[in-house]
Amino acid sequence: MSNQEWAERGNAVFIGTYNRYPAALVKGSGCKLWDADGKEYLDFLAGIAVCSLGHCHPVVTEAIRKQAGELVHVSNLYHTKPQIELAELLVKNSFADRVFMGNSGAEANEAAIKLARIHSGPGKYEIISLSGSFHGRTLAAVAATGQPKFHQGFEPLPQGFVHAEFGDPKAIEALITPQTCAILCEPLQGESGVRPLETEYLQAIRDLCDKHGLLLIFDEVQTGLGRTGTLFCHEQLGVTPDIMTLAKALGNGLPIGAMLTTETIAASLVAGTHASTFGGNPVAAAAAVEVLKTMLADGFMESVQEKSRYFIKKLEAVAAQYPHLATGVRGRGLLLGLMLTEKGIEQGLAIVQRMFEDGALINFAGNKVLRFVPPLIVSTEEIDAVVEKLCRIFDSL
Ligand SMILES: *Cc1c(COP(=O)(O)O)cnc(C)c1O
Repeated sequence: MSNQEWAERGNAVFIGTYNRYPAALVKGSGCKLWDADGKEYLDFLAGIAVCSLGHCHPVVTEAIRKQAGELVHVSNLYHTKPQIELAELLVKNSFADRVFMGNSGAEANEAAIKLARIHSGPGKYEIISLSGSFHGRTLAAVAATGQPKFHQGFEPLPQGFVHAEFGDPKAIEALITPQTCAILCEPLQGESGVRPLETEYLQAIRDLCDKHGLLLIFDEVQTGLGRTGTLFCHEQLGVTPDIMTLAKALGNGLPIGAMLTTETIAASLVAGTHASTFGGNPVAAAAAVEVLKTMLADGFMESVQEKSRYFIKKLEAVAAQYPHLATGVRGRGLLLGLMLTEKGIEQGLAIVQRMFEDGALINFAGNKVLRFVPPLIVSTEEIDAVVEKLCRIFDSL
């Protein structure tokens, strides 16, 4: 079966929520993918910051195989070994004391929203998030998302979400009312164009929370788990949240998400207040345990930081060489965006399309920047190869 045959079969049966490329991917290894026609791709999207250890990482694959042969699922009314080991690793290596497990980023954010509300008590339910943010597609997560294009057609959205203009702490403070219970933000906005929050801005948000008795929730679904060169992005910014959500890279491709918080705040979610049938599933948790162990091993984060510096230099050279198309680089670690000029933005989708044709997967984030999110195990040779492909396309524009 060819790509085209698969695409025809898929397009005949799926609800059209995705604009899919005409390729059926059949195999992955490290930073490489292959499609049904045998074409090879360099994957600099990694399932959008999911396959951070690369496709089919042998240690993770072995853990999945082993767990699948022992126990695949029981109700969360019982304990399982992988889920406990995972929670212990998360607690040991973060600000948090307690963990709730779900299956995705949106679910982790739903749990955080519910926790913020129940902890703050009756009448304190409003959450302030930022314009340009992305928090997921369930109704509450989409209401928290500060991009109107994701709301259109789905109103009325759940109440209690307001959005502050990005970048100015005063804009947030102006929205604080007696109903406010929390401020929710990503330490670096991924979906809306790889936009980092400056340290001073994040610190000002922390100060606002302390001054007004609000909870600070960091959505580290995309930035967490080594993506920005530290286990969690907020560590390098020196600002600690009260609640943090994780998902994407946690299971290196298996669906798992987590909501982390402190002992005191966690005490508000008592038995019966929240639950998930599949959350922290033994197979997904077994994969996540190996993901964390691998990332926590000596030298792993240093190598991410090294590759980040290398990649940033390369992309800065591209911006310098093609000033009519690109203006510079932003992001942290291996969550990088090449910012485009107006002319570059016009060509953004075409550039991504031509990269795809040339065997490299990237995307156009927020209709503003070319986003590069390779597996964290990417080699300098693979970075060189992708930059070369990009330059060839820029040459022809
Ligand atoms: C991807 C993402 C989500 C949503 O995660 P899903 O697993 O798709 O529900 C939420 N927040 C951020 C910052 C994300 O990047």
